[in-house]
Amino acid sequence: MNLATNLEQIKGVGPKTAAELRRAGLQTVGDILMFLPRKHEDFTNVTPIAELQPGKVTIRARCQQISTRPVRRGLRLTTAVLGDDTSKLNAVWFNQPYRVQQLGGSDEWFYFSGTFEYNYGRYQLTNPTAELAKELPVQADRLLPVYHAVRGLKSQTVRKVIEQLRPLMSVLPETLPPSVVQSEQLLDRAAAISAMHFPRNEREVEQARQRLAFEELFELVLASQLNKIDNQKLAGFAIPFEKSVVQDFVKKLPFALTNAQRRAAWDILQDFENARPMNRLLQGDVGSGKTVVAGLAARQAASAGYQTAFMAPTEILARQHAETLARLLEPFGVTVGLLIGSVKGKARQTLYQQIASGAVDVVVGTHALIQDKVEFHRLGFVIIDEQHRFGVEQRQRLLMKVKAERVGSGALDTLSEPMTIAAGSSRETGRVAPGSRARHGGEESVSSALLDAKKPSVAAAMPHLLAMTATPIPRSLALTVYGELDVSVLDELPRGRRPILTKIISPPSREAAYAAIDQQIAQGRQVYVVCSLIADSDSSDRKSVEAEYKRLKNSIFSRYRIAMLHGKMSASEKDQIMQDFKDQKYDILVSTTVIEVGVDVPNATIMMIEDADQFGLAQLHQLRGRVGRGQHQSYCYLMMSTNNKPSQRLREIEKSSDGFHLAEVDMSLRGPGEIYGRMQHGALNLQIATLADTQLIARAQKAAKRFIDSGESLSKYPALEARIRHNQRVTTLN
Ligand code: ADP
Ligand code: MG
Repeated sequence: MNLATNLEQIKGVGPKTAAELRRAGLQTVGDILMFLPRKHEDFTNVTPIAELQPGKVTIRARCQQISTRPVRRGLRLTTAVLGDDTSKLNAVWFNQPYRVQQLGGSDEWFYFSGTFEYNYGRYQLTNPTAELAKELPVQADRLLPVYHAVRGLKSQTVRKVIEQLRPLMSVLPETLPPSVVQSEQLLDRAAAISAMHFPRNEREVEQARQRLAFEELFELVLASQLNKIDNQKLAGFAIPFEKSVVQDFVKKLPFALTNAQRRAAWDILQDFENARPMNRLLQGDVGSGKTVVAGLAARQAASAGYQTAFMAPTEILARQHAETLARLLEPFGVTVGLLIGSVKGKARQTLYQQIASGAVDVVVGTHALIQDKVEFHRLGFVIIDEQHRFGVEQRQRLLMKVKAERVGSGALDTLSEPMTIAAGSSRETGRVAPGSRARHGGEESVSSALLDAKKPSVAAAMPHLLAMTATPIPRSLALTVYGELDVSVLDELPRGRRPILTKIISPPSREAAYAAIDQQIAQGRQVYVVCSLIADSDSSDRKSVEAEYKRLKNSIFSRYRIAMLHGKMSASEKDQIMQDFKDQKYDILVSTTVIEVGVDVPNATIMMIEDADQFGLAQLHQLRGRVGRGQHQSYCYLMMSTNNKPSQRLREIEKSSDGFHLAEVDMSLRGPGEIYGRMQHGALNLQIATLADTQLIARAQKAAKRFIDSGESLSKYPALEARIRHNQRVTTLN
């Protein structure tokens, strides 16, 4: 038996259990050993019902009576009476009707763990877990692991199998370099994993967690540091700063740049002068004016004879950017092209030719830009808007295309021995030595560096990269993932913007909100109404775009022009409606979150968000950013579906319009481990470390530096190396 052994071969694992495990993605011994508990329960500490105090409790009781009933749409309440030798209490579960099968009519003893609290006028046990007592290997000295119920997987099943594997624990290989384990005084990996599954007490759990969290963070920051080194070795195109070009551009703007915009532009123009490619993240809250900064840089690139590719996540956005950039750049003779799906046939072929011949200086597009057919003449600058919006796969594809180029010339050289993965033909890559002014060979398309690295022909250098995002990244996250990255921040809104007035609206105040909308439209303004659903659904009483559209159109706002927008419409339909709304052909747009991304309609002044409690904090902030983009006072209404107390999320967003502050709040409100997945890095999968681990992050950073400096080869640690390679791909921008 070893880590690769199939679970079916384990004693006591029949076909049924194996299937249950397989459904949860657990196939081998290694899989299940690394399937770490989500929490531990202390069944050694059982309280008699008569002695319960409010808080987290565990009781040992029998179910005397249980029933379930629907309360309203989307909510099913299951209630039970539980009793032990001392007393009885009521238990309540929300949307867990299966408890009836589990507990009903059974005379067995169960352990129930949950919150004992005063609610609805009486004390009750809320949402307790229930474990059949006779199945529990309860020992006086041990906590019980609770595993994620992936597709109905029962903790009990996992526990049984892992119990069988206990002897294997000690042979789990160490993955971190011994020098790191030693200097950081970490638990070794076998001990840590074993302690997660079989801890004696909370202290052991925390020690084990720290060790495993350290490992994750170490892998992340080492990858990030290697990327940095990697980047410094790449050759790029030096684009000299031309004062007059920049001044002329700024003079022609209808507004003065904010100081933050100036600083960011300056960062970029300085990077441009380097013969190594820029790798910069431009973070700016919604409406902070990122586009004009990008435009200024594109202007400078064009002046030096380089093309710019500007990639946006949606057609609407690409079109908007193309229009903005054309307005900004064409007065200087800089030509702008738009490459999106709806540009077809002859027009598309012509555009391809113009891109290839250099007749178009700035190409704005969706992911259509990364197709094989697109060949640039002299691509020197790449801009990615809302970079995190690109699906993991799309991003990954783009990354892979670039990345293959980097393998031979990357950070690996800095380690004493090359990583095995780095071996291969790409090592022979001829590239312009850093420092020498890069030259474009007309015959060797640079686009192959960005767009199609599969080709054996190899580009001389990499274009400069500017990735833009409106999702502020909390400092601690930036530190970990982007610690080694160049970042410019637009932390200042253009002058004259009035803060958006945000209000939580409870059901009785709905009419007043409609009256406010009425007033705004009468003054010529426009309004967004956002719903979380496209169509009404049986399983939810949330408002839907289709129903709200009908309701508003047929009654409340029948005198106004109303349109609807959602993700099930074709791209061209969506485009048309958004364009028409922009052109003020509609007063009200009822939409799902498809309008969320960067669309600029300065005349829109009200954002009404239905069932606001259904959205995440970051999303609400983004939605709110759709208004307040012009000189008019704007409003955001967070509509509550019930009279309940609003969530803390809503109260925070009502209070603050600072995206960075909200990002920090968001982080603290969410459970551990969720941040990474939902924020920038779908492909990054941090299971254990949380952003609260700031000390560990700092330690991991130091340890990673020491490791690089030591010159020790990563290839000695294949498991570590593989994960670092993966992290390098997902944390790099280019
Ligand atoms: P975002 O950073 O969200 O992408 P945009 O680039 O779309 O923001 O800019 C939002 C709006 O602000 C646009 O209408 C733009 O013309 C305007 N804008 C940008 N910079 C300034 C400025 N310095 N002063 C006034 N308005 C500005
Ligand atoms: Mg934008």
